[in-house]
Amino acid sequence: MTNIIDGKLAAQQIREQLSAKVDAFVDVNGITPNLTVILVGDNPASQVYVRNKIRQTQQVGMISNEIKLADNVSQTEILAHIARLNADHNVHGILVQLPLPKHIDEHAILEAIEPHKDVDGFHALNSGKLFSGLPGGLVPCTPQGCVILAKKALGDNLSGKHAVVLGRSNIVGKPVAMLLLQQNCTVTIAHSRTENIAQVVRGADIVIAAVGIANFVKGDWIKPGATVIDVGINRIFDEQQDKYTLVGDVDFAEVVKVAGAITPVPGGVGPMTIACLLENTFLAATHSL
Ligand code: NAD
Repeated sequence: MTNIIDGKLAAQQIREQLSAKVDAFVDVNGITPNLTVILVGDNPASQVYVRNKIRQTQQVGMISNEIKLADNVSQTEILAHIARLNADHNVHGILVQLPLPKHIDEHAILEAIEPHKDVDGFHALNSGKLFSGLPGGLVPCTPQGCVILAKKALGDNLSGKHAVVLGRSNIVGKPVAMLLLQQNCTVTIAHSRTENIAQVVRGADIVIAAVGIANFVKGDWIKPGATVIDVGINRIFDEQQDKYTLVGDVDFAEVVKVAGAITPVPGGVGPMTIACLLENTFLAATHSL
């Protein structure tokens, strides 16, 4: 029987534990961790993500505020908001929801966030710490979630496992590869220019799929018994159901027959991303003492 890894349950467990830690932190220090989210424009998917982040932050006893900015806001104005939040001792985590409109330099925005408040972990200082194995940095949320879910299937010791990461983005592919390397996995990063990608994936004990292409990974790419973590969130029209649905980067119907463990979409990595964001916010608050 293939293990369908329950990301919702794992995320709920993290939130429950965090809630208790937040209560104790507030009692002892009289400080409530605060996450402030900047949302630019009216991208419907981003609105849903931000709503969920804010709701869940509040559910674990932390404060969450939203700054909504119009689609045509200037880069200078966003930077002014970030500068104000950087200087505000009551704000512990700052998150700028991506993607940003085309006229905004995403890189400049992310680099403007004070690294100790960079709860997405995208600032160069935080990625530098992750890549150098230095402690004290904030680690990107989705990659953290992937590793936690892989451990749910394989146990805490991932040492020696061959992990193939599909995708090399700064947000998912590269940081998850670094986290797996820290776990002593043998890591291969495959991407859009990789030759014989199916063959590369066939060697994997752990597959992390983060390419953004619906149903990309096929059943005959998977080594029997492998653990498959599907990061993809793709909205496609389902002819049979006559409506739009969310699917991952993994062809679930095929891969579930071969894998030893697999995350579903939705209900796999997605909930873990937010749970890890809450953890990062709490961590940022503890570092602020
Ligand atoms: P991205 O577009 O920045 O990167 C995609 C990567 O896939 C690139 O590195 C590219 O080299 C690789 N790629 C593209 N075509 C390929 C091909 N034919 N073969 C092999 N590799 C190929 O995307 P991203 O931000 O890393 O996100 C990837 C997916 O994960 C998307 O579906 C996104 O929606 C999803 N995502 C989910 C969460 C979550 O919380 N579950 C978080 C972030 C991203």
